[in-house]
Amino acid sequence: MRSFFLFICFFLLHTFLFSQEIKKGDAYYYARKIADTMASESMHGRGYVNDGDKIAANYIKTEYQKFGLKTFGKDYYQNLSFAINTFPKEAPFLSTDYWGDAWEAGKNYLVSPGCPSITRQKNYEVVWFDSTIASSPSQLKKFSQDKFSKKWIIIDAHGVTDKEELKQFAIMKTNPYKAYGIANVNDKKLTWDCSEMVDKFPSVELLITDSLRNKINKKQKGYIAFEVKNVFLSNHQTQNVIGYVQGSTYPDSFIVFTAHYDHLGQMGNDVYFPGANDNASGCAMLLNLAKYYSMPEHKPKYSVAFIALCGEEVGLLGSKYYTEHPLFPLKQIKFLLNMDIMGTGEEGITVVNGTVFKNEFNKLKQINADNHFIKDVKIRGKAANSDHYYFSELGVHACFVYAMGGIKAYHDIYDKAETLPLNEFQNLFLLFTKFGDSLQN
Ligand SMILES: [Zn+2]
Repeated sequence: MRSFFLFICFFLLHTFLFSQEIKKGDAYYYARKIADTMASESMHGRGYVNDGDKIAANYIKTEYQKFGLKTFGKDYYQNLSFAINTFPKEAPFLSTDYWGDAWEAGKNYLVSPGCPSITRQKNYEVVWFDSTIASSPSQLKKFSQDKFSKKWIIIDAHGVTDKEELKQFAIMKTNPYKAYGIANVNDKKLTWDCSEMVDKFPSVELLITDSLRNKINKKQKGYIAFEVKNVFLSNHQTQNVIGYVQGSTYPDSFIVFTAHYDHLGQMGNDVYFPGANDNASGCAMLLNLAKYYSMPEHKPKYSVAFIALCGEEVGLLGSKYYTEHPLFPLKQIKFLLNMDIMGTGEEGITVVNGTVFKNEFNKLKQINADNHFIKDVKIRGKAANSDHYYFSELGVHACFVYAMGGIKAYHDIYDKAETLPLNEFQNLFLLFTKFGDSLQN
């Protein structure tokens, strides 16, 4: 009975403390719903397997319709296409002599995004290329002259200062056309990506932590067995999703909010990359802002456009296409705010292009200082790291904000909605709306 009483006390205290930590309002709850939906398995990582990107675009379109956003053309879509390598078939298979079949795709290893199909006919012998070879001129010479036909090279840069140089050297010397495949050892964190091309040879990335490293005897003859099926889509059709609220006084002048909705998709039929922080969280902010500006009490003087961009992870392809085919002249953009990674924020936000567009940066910083929304608004220079880039290269006043601190999941299977804190989301929303309103004056 007493322990039950203590439990109740603890529960109440915990609830009290927890509710103090995260500010929750309408924006937070709507963001939670969006993140849960967009990072769920039903969207297949918003990539190019099972039409993940189309399902996500359709979801955003439906939300735009609910708010009554206007369209520039016949609908909200701006269609475009690009090439992409995909893995829609059965899960890849990897086995090694020192860890058997325990390798799990996504968790312990990654197939390189540009990997071609490879059929498992037999186990291929492995050759290790590591710091012992790299630091010995005679061993290096021997390695360079070796014949690697039908062998896998495992490049282990553990303990080597210039890891990239070692990798490049090994790939060059082993001549991938001769060797059967390349396995890169990673001792920290697996990070996946997209590829617009198919590579000439298969490669994988192995996560080898210290405990696993201790089980490996490099002197023993080892093997790798690997199988994967790729499907190269030379002309994948996708779309940007664009709507706007018309300004009451200056309808031809625009404040623009952008966020990419695509992510990495799937690696085989049962591993998907949820992309909750990157960038379901940014879409959640975009849609919250669309909801806000579509309310009659917030009707803006300047028009406000919302662009959910595709193909960011493939190389900023949606924003590049948009800037080449704008739906209204780019010079009519008063200011553009790109939002990518909005799910954390205990360390504040960083503003890319803050040093280029000092006036807007200072305004954002001042609003935050006056209202104590988030811990810090940090300044950063130019960087081609998200969708603001092609806009500002063409003279548009455009900044990119991302949240800092908290979870480290990024481009991996752990970037899930369940663990996305959204702890500063409500505050970020208040900051952006106040900033957006200040641009209306
Ligand atoms: Zn992103």
